[in-house]
Amino acid sequence: MKQLSDLSSKQLSDWLSEASQQTQKGKLPNYIPLLQDSKPSVLTICIITKNNYILSQGDSQIKFPLMSIIKPFLLLYLLSEFGEELIFQKVGSQPSNYSFNSLKQLQLDQGFPRNPMINSGALTLASLLPGNDGDRKCQNLQQWLNQHSQCDLFLDELMLHSVQSLPNLRNKAIIDELTKTGQINDPDITLDTYNKICCLSGNIIELARLGLLLVNSPNISTKNATIVRNIMTTCGLYEASENLAKHIGFPSKSGVSGAILSIVPEQGAIACYSPPLDAQGNSVASLYLIEKIATALHTREK
Ligand code: GLU
Repeated sequence: MKQLSDLSSKQLSDWLSEASQQTQKGKLPNYIPLLQDSKPSVLTICIITKNNYILSQGDSQIKFPLMSIIKPFLLLYLLSEFGEELIFQKVGSQPSNYSFNSLKQLQLDQGFPRNPMINSGALTLASLLPGNDGDRKCQNLQQWLNQHSQCDLFLDELMLHSVQSLPNLRNKAIIDELTKTGQINDPDITLDTYNKICCLSGNIIELARLGLLLVNSPNISTKNATIVRNIMTTCGLYEASENLAKHIGFPSKSGVSGAILSIVPEQGAIACYSPPLDAQGNSVASLYLIEKIATALHTREK
């Protein structure tokens, strides 16, 4: 396989202009009002290698909420706090063909969350974060991530108010089911924690740096990083996960804000952000860029 550091800025800027043509195919999500105000034309990428070589294009200062991209890092933190055995008593690791916020999937699974990349799994894991309330639980995750990744992730309060301004009936129904089946004990704190961790925010370089936690990071257990990468590979891109896993071949996770993070094992990470989403909820332009890069890296040198 080719190296991330072989990619040239010229190649990247060509792909970026192609990707920006794709954004009209996508739509901004409508269930979080503030995400409707995102600029559809913003497109930015950062490639980082484990030796800290950085190639970044577009507006690298723009901040966005991680939303579901926090899920693999929630899992990573809890694995390091509590170990694999306890965590996988609480959630599974199988892909789901239902949507990320499906109640039906949870009911079909008798209340056992299928994996940590869908909402039932992430809500269950959010309830396990150390701390007595949503603020403390979110801060503990935020501090751990910032300490380990040289990031300065912050809780975007305006985004949080926007998330809280409309009742998210699907997440509420999942929480009720999880409470009924005894997976979680405190529904209100769990929802509050989940909403807060989804609103942890940063820029594209910080997202790429977070990705490095999953690439031979000296302070992270290799075993835990491997567990998280494996689950991202099969469950990270919503209902498109299975198809895209074959196609891209890199562990990836997307979020409703329009970001996608892909890990190139042994090498580094690729972070992209562009708000318009396809029908499965993946950023159209980000996915285009990741696919281009994956193809270029997998193409054998002649
Ligand atoms: N807060 C969002 C939700 O659960 C995150 C979803 C996502 O990024 O997929 O609805």
